[in-house]
Amino acid sequence: MKMSIATVSISGDLGEKLQAIAAAGFDGIEIFENDLLTCSRSPREVAAMVADLGLETYLFQPFRDFEGLPEPLRSRALERARYKFELMNELGCDLILICSNVSPLALGGVDRCAADFNALGDIASRYGIRIGYEALVWGRHVFDHRDAWEIVRRADHPNVGLILDSFHTLSRKIDPATIRSIPGDRIFFVQLADAPLFDMDLLYWSRHFRNLPGQGDLPVGAFLGDVLATGYAGPLSLEVFNDQFRGGSPRAIAADGLRSLKYLVDGVARREPALAVASPTMPPRIDVLGVEFVEFAADEETAGELAATLGALGLAEAAQHKTKAVTLYRQGGINIVINTEREGLAHSAFVAHGLSAYAIGLRVADAEATMQRATALGSTVFEQPVSSGQLRVPAIRGVGGGLLYFVDEASELANVWDIEFTPIDESTNADAGLLDIDHVAQTMDYSEMLTWILFYRSIFATSKSPMVDVLDPAGLVRSQIISNDAGTLRLTLNGADNHRTLAGHFISEAFGSGVQHLAFRSSDIFASADAMAARGFLPLEISPNYYPDLRARFGLADDAIGRLRTRNILYDRDGDGEFFQFYGRRQVEGFFFEIVERRSGYDGYGAPNAAFRIAAQKTHIRGPSIPRA
Ligand code: MG
Ligand code: MG
Repeated sequence: MKMSIATVSISGDLGEKLQAIAAAGFDGIEIFENDLLTCSRSPREVAAMVADLGLETYLFQPFRDFEGLPEPLRSRALERARYKFELMNELGCDLILICSNVSPLALGGVDRCAADFNALGDIASRYGIRIGYEALVWGRHVFDHRDAWEIVRRADHPNVGLILDSFHTLSRKIDPATIRSIPGDRIFFVQLADAPLFDMDLLYWSRHFRNLPGQGDLPVGAFLGDVLATGYAGPLSLEVFNDQFRGGSPRAIAADGLRSLKYLVDGVARREPALAVASPTMPPRIDVLGVEFVEFAADEETAGELAATLGALGLAEAAQHKTKAVTLYRQGGINIVINTEREGLAHSAFVAHGLSAYAIGLRVADAEATMQRATALGSTVFEQPVSSGQLRVPAIRGVGGGLLYFVDEASELANVWDIEFTPIDESTNADAGLLDIDHVAQTMDYSEMLTWILFYRSIFATSKSPMVDVLDPAGLVRSQIISNDAGTLRLTLNGADNHRTLAGHFISEAFGSGVQHLAFRSSDIFASADAMAARGFLPLEISPNYYPDLRARFGLADDAIGRLRTRNILYDRDGDGEFFQFYGRRQVEGFFFEIVERRSGYDGYGAPNAAFRIAAQKTHIRGPSIPRA
């Protein structure tokens, strides 16, 4: 299938847009008229530039307010169209998008509109032009693809067909399965966009909040399945109007765009193998079996502070790398690696970000298949020289230039700790009841957030929750959960709008996006808290006003509240179960640890407590969670 994108989806001038689109690997474009009008090149020069970049112009758009007009407006609209057809001949483009009329002067009537399109079809055929009619969801009389199709059907002209746009169908909750009864050869073009679910004015929603398939909440995959079931085999084109994209990097948005289309087509190919229009070209989305390790880049001083905190959390120094300055700390299923090498990516990460959790190792069934899928979706492979006796652990670039390693259970990679490390006697350190890594919180500029949602969702079998607003005293932080059904991968992505929020401060202090906190799961959070306190661990102190309010909110008894308060444990409850959490103090560069306990199926992250946590963190001077020696 040909992959296309509308020039309006990307920032920059027309030249920058086209270069970014070509570099990402698209086959062709829709030229948005404004991009042409504001460009200093002639239509013929633009056509040459498009061809030089190996692209095709599939569509010219939009032509507005055409059908159903009374005279003399009708004749003027036909004349206006004639001028556009001449321009399109110079541009080397043979398909124009006509969107449904929004003018208050437009008259309704299916037959009137069909007659207008039949007349325009005759004119267009003299220029070798085809016309595609799109129902805008805010059209005056036509705002449903079923009505647009009826007008096209009655126009009964070979040069007049239908254009479908996922946003216009799905934003009005029109059942996309209704598309299946339209003959595929009468569909001239298909535009795709997703959007977050908002209850707002449709025009405003469309012009500002559309995003790429996979980034929003609309069933774009089902829509595409219905389109392909008609036999439509033309281009699939992204048409996205988004305020973030307008300020984003053209190349990054184009690359995300191609990733989103490949992900979408892969999903349809798997759900509807009978369509046979798109057979899967990559392994299916990868099941993550767990977080195998998190690796920190550090120097000697920060490594010492981090190791002290880990010790207080009950993680024992478990193994030493045979050839490198890399130490493994372990408790239960938690593996934390501290890397103080003075070369390689860990060192660069330390120089750039200071102490930082720059690499995450994910346990998968097949690391090779994971790499295949990730690279098919445009991920950047990471490799650095390995010495003898060291495994080449497959890795790709992730958030903030950090790494995602993949360790599987089928190959030698399963034994990476035994092969590369020498064990240290662990008997000296009794643990604190921690089981595994519950979640990894990554913080980024809000402008990058959609990129990472698509990244995780397209490569791994995960779903995303609706976006939640977290109130920081200095502004808003938007939080989005990416997780799998088994709960073996839980990521919280936090997008900061400004640098005065705690999340934003983290980004500026750490010179970029990255892991802001790491949550460990306990089997008994009270016992864990006491064991850690005995080792000198200092939890984040929560405002005393938080606790009496628990009685009002949840009806907790005084002694239960007292048990929480003395340990600075925060509490939440929903229809499924209960949640307990406490935090360490901010480590260097704003990073911190969290301890959680989930009871009877609670699947959230204590979102109502986030504001209390942030307020507490802002009143504390930065420092490690154990007293300095
Ligand atoms: Mg459209
Ligand atoms: Mg958390």
